Amino acid sequence: MKRVYNFSAGPSALPEEALKIAADEMLCYQDTGMSVMEMSHRSAAYQAIIDAAEANIRELMNVPDNYNILFMQGGATAQFDAVPLNLMKKGKADFVDSGTWAAKAAKLAKKYGTANVVASSKDTVWDRIPELDPSKFDPEADYFHITMNNTVAGTRFYELPDTKGVPLVSDMSSYILSEVFDVNDFGLIYAGAQKNMGPAGVAVVIIRDDLMGDCMDITPELYNYKINYEKGSMLNTPPTYTIYMLKLVTDWVKRQGGVKEMQRRNEEKAALLYDYLDNSKLFKGRVVKKDRSLMNVTFVIGDDEKEKKFIAEAKAAGLENLKGHRSMGGMRASIYNAMPLEGVKALVEFMEKFEKENK
Ligand SMILES: *Cc1c(COP(=O)(O)O)cnc(C)c1O
Repeated sequence: MKRVYNFSAGPSALPEEALKIAADEMLCYQDTGMSVMEMSHRSAAYQAIIDAAEANIRELMNVPDNYNILFMQGGATAQFDAVPLNLMKKGKADFVDSGTWAAKAAKLAKKYGTANVVASSKDTVWDRIPELDPSKFDPEADYFHITMNNTVAGTRFYELPDTKGVPLVSDMSSYILSEVFDVNDFGLIYAGAQKNMGPAGVAVVIIRDDLMGDCMDITPELYNYKINYEKGSMLNTPPTYTIYMLKLVTDWVKRQGGVKEMQRRNEEKAALLYDYLDNSKLFKGRVVKKDRSLMNVTFVIGDDEKEKKFIAEAKAAGLENLKGHRSMGGMRASIYNAMPLEGVKALVEFMEKFEKENK
């Protein structure tokens, strides 16, 4: 059996160590005589797993005491509805349209109130984070929504907007645990697990406690933050195995030296790839330099046939899932925490070889 370097944007590569522990524990978890998959979510053994998963996130991200951590179902997409349902008390929020997911968040929020798009880079196919003009921000908005890292386009925020006290809400699906940041800068953070934390099936929500509790009457119980908190994220059967995997992945991040060490590695990996792209005569980075993502590196050749050939030959060389998102074309290398430096080195070497052969 040979594992490939998997550059998928999500679900994405997981740390091999975490997968091996899961394999070892597959038939019998500790002394329970059963797999985690077969366990009651109300058992003491399972409670210890979900508690450890939460404690890992709290420790790794330095989550302050006045923030609650929830595990919710429906991925990040469910949060596009849950956030306005829980937070749009005055019926309006500001949005930055920095990519496919950011646009979707604004679109879904429109059902519940006014979703004011304060800036957009859609005209240039989201090749940058749009310039923000604070005079367009609504000081009365319930919250201000950004997508910290744009998974499809390959950009990210390097500077947070100054929202003058309006709670900042961020979709961090492809950013969480990739670098150090201060949770205090945000009112609410949410992230689907399948980019940087584990398999698909759960979203992590980190919410400041004063923002909980005043949701719209129509809010489905499963989307209600306060009830989810009161029930310890077990309002109904949670995705038990996914949360167990998230625990194993966050255990691994801790063993590696925490988020600070992840950031060091991520900067090193991204620099290697971007340096090559900047010097290449064949490949070109797709987004403006100042807004480049460390997690999703998008690039083009600008010739459909050559791009197809590149993706096929890379796959044959054990470099998988380099095709860009269907809405954007070109190529995308997602280099989340679990992608080792060796994987990025192998990709750059392959690109150099391809460039020589396809001048
Ligand atoms: C992947 C992704 C989503 C969608 O996640 P689902 O879990 O499939 O709902 C939303 N936002 C961002 C930034 C993403 O990367």
